[in-house]
Amino acid sequence: MLDREIAGIRCREVLDALESYLAGELDRTLRERIEAHLVECDRCARFGGIYAETCRDLRTLLAKPEPAPHALLERLKRRTTEGAI
Ligand SMILES: [Zn+2]
Repeated sequence: MLDREIAGIRCREVLDALESYLAGELDRTLRERIEAHLVECDRCARFGGIYAETCRDLRTLLAKPEPAPHALLERLKRRTTEGAI
């Protein structure tokens, strides 16, 4: 794996810090260094883009409410119907 040093930070360090970076947990200095690295390093930028997308998809997925269990839905439906009669 190619490990280049750009903007004072190596690819490996960028990839290691990417999770914290996306979570907004890094201090300003490190964040700016990573951003400077991503501008110059297309490989990290590409990986970071895919990673960010995956994280976003995952978060969207996790944010969705779980479908109600079938039995509960049936019971609710029955109660609603009985109530209507
Ligand atoms: Zn890089």
